[in-house]
Amino acid sequence: MGVDLTTPLIELKNIRKSYGGGDSPQVDVLRGIDLSIHAGDFVAIVGVSGSGKSTLMNILGCLDRPTVGEYLFAGENVAHLDSDALAWLRREAFGFVFQGYHLIPSGSAQENVEMPAIYAGISAAERHARAKALLTRLGLADRTGNRPHQLSGGQQQRVSIARALMNGGHIILADEPTGALDSHSGAEVMGLLDELASQGHVVILITHDREVAAHANRIIEISDGLIISDSARSHTHVPVTANSDALQAVDLRQRLADGAEHNGAWKAELLDAVQAAWRVMWINRFRTALTLLGIIIGVASVVVMLAVGEGSKRQVMAQMAAFGSNIIYLSGFSPNPRTPQGIVTLNDVAALATLPQVKRIMPVNGTYAGVRFGNVDYMAYVGGNDTNFPAIFNWPVAEGSYFTEADERAGATVAVIGHRVREKLFKGQVDPIGQYILIENVPFQVMGVLAEKGSSSGLQDSDDRIAIPYTAASVRLFGTYNPEYVVIAANDARKVHEAEQAIDQLMKKLHNGKLDYHLTNDAAMIQAEARTANTLSLMLGSIAAISLLVGGIGVMNIMLMTVRERTREIGIRMATGARQRDILRQFLTEAVMLSVVGGLVGIALALLVSGVLVLAEVAVQFSLVAVLGAFGCALVTGVVFGFMPARKAARLDPVKALTSE
Ligand code: ADP
Ligand code: MG
Repeated sequence: MGVDLTTPLIELKNIRKSYGGGDSPQVDVLRGIDLSIHAGDFVAIVGVSGSGKSTLMNILGCLDRPTVGEYLFAGENVAHLDSDALAWLRREAFGFVFQGYHLIPSGSAQENVEMPAIYAGISAAERHARAKALLTRLGLADRTGNRPHQLSGGQQQRVSIARALMNGGHIILADEPTGALDSHSGAEVMGLLDELASQGHVVILITHDREVAAHANRIIEISDGLIISDSARSHTHVPVTANSDALQAVDLRQRLADGAEHNGAWKAELLDAVQAAWRVMWINRFRTALTLLGIIIGVASVVVMLAVGEGSKRQVMAQMAAFGSNIIYLSGFSPNPRTPQGIVTLNDVAALATLPQVKRIMPVNGTYAGVRFGNVDYMAYVGGNDTNFPAIFNWPVAEGSYFTEADERAGATVAVIGHRVREKLFKGQVDPIGQYILIENVPFQVMGVLAEKGSSSGLQDSDDRIAIPYTAASVRLFGTYNPEYVVIAANDARKVHEAEQAIDQLMKKLHNGKLDYHLTNDAAMIQAEARTANTLSLMLGSIAAISLLVGGIGVMNIMLMTVRERTREIGIRMATGARQRDILRQFLTEAVMLSVVGGLVGIALALLVSGVLVLAEVAVQFSLVAVLGAFGCALVTGVVFGFMPARKAARLDPVKALTSE
């Protein structure tokens, strides 16, 4: 199904264009244009400056819509097309050549030429080859990598002609293409347009120069928004030079009916968007770096703070594991200051031992006492306890052995000393095992040294301790069998609270309802500490989140600036066929790229800072979740704060964008 050759390719009926109106005075720029252009035409539109030529050209190229009148393209009313279909027309049917070249300053000649093909969804290989071939044909084979500012005016105009031809360029719209060129370059460009016209391209050329207009086979003169002469009207038009290929290509009805939207092109478009975004970031690298700082600091602080928070939490947990999170302490207590403190007896201990929730129970009869070895005096906690000690505290001996049940029964005067006691008394010079030490002047023989535990929360230095048999402590040192406190290990670390309740009930019964005892547990203390650590990391985390937010606002700021600065680029992209969503994607990609780069650098910085912290012996625990989370937040920041500027860019009016400075 071809187009009837008598159907004009372009038909304008009573086209009017006015600006202003309302508050500002109305300017009628086009005042009723009727015009038909057929396949094979080479038309020159001439007129003085301000007569409305460019306005007409923008309407012809579907960059702008008329205020009044009908524009039929291949018989189809353009007014009925949506913005995507118009973009499709600009991409597939038209090729623009402007007086000011309108190349994208950040792209190379090759990239500028390839741009319309990206929006058309042509494969990278085909695109590269075609752009290269076009540039070679136009004498720019050795300039493909140069950016516009590295090219002469004539060369830039040839690049823009190559771009116009990239997708076929069946209708070349050239607005004063030689206006900014010296006569030699101008003649070259006109030579190219002649050649294109002879190959079957429809060429519509705007000029105020009669000599240039003489290249065309049809001259239309426009003055004050009206056509005042048209050389075609003097003879009936015969489309002899119609190139059927060119015509087929712009068979709009056919192509639109085929649903010729290139949805498979997203990969190439995304790649192009990423490349373009990278280019822009690199060209403005100082500004980019400053903007990135917000994101970098945000991401780095989120990661580091969470790592530090997690590290201190782990430390607390490790302590909890070291002392057993299932331990409950029971001691006497005075319900009010005037009554004596209650006493927990060994009978109580025996009764509590029968509770199913209790795994181990150990009375401790102890106090701080003076210890002596040779002429060294030292104060340490001396506790009489039974042989449950190593198991209940998860605390083995490092040297020698622990005292036995037989020692316990016999009330043997033997001692197992803590790491610190060993250091203080023996100073690493004497093997303590077998030596006699004096505890409150009673000689005890050292049988073992406890493994080092380190200082812990709640308790004083736990290595500052001596364990002796309970019986020996009661008989030789304290003169009483009543324990100072009782250590109870619950059966299940997760049910410490329940065990505590059971103990409380039984104790209440044993003590006839008198609350002259006190129950506490390490787990509760350590958990409270862990909660504090959690709160702290939450606080640090929210500070970090705020800096990320600030970073996001930075991204939005730079994106708004970018859109403003690159309005003309947006116009150029639209003129070469970018749809609104292409522009949206372009700028959104840039915002996301900023955040991604900021996020990656932020994570690298976090690793660096953590390394320093580790050297400073701060507990740091990296979690992948924190790293991914912070990176994800940066990404979301880019999308959220980039969206508004990107949408602003996408909604720009093509003509306004193109003519902005
Ligand atoms: P030419 O290309 O023939 O020099 P233009 O088509 O660019 O002329 O402009 C024709 C007239 O329309 C000029 O007087 C110009 O001031 C006016 N004009 C163009 N664009 C606008 C606009 N956006 N708002 C108001 N007036 C405009
Ligand atoms: Mg003009």
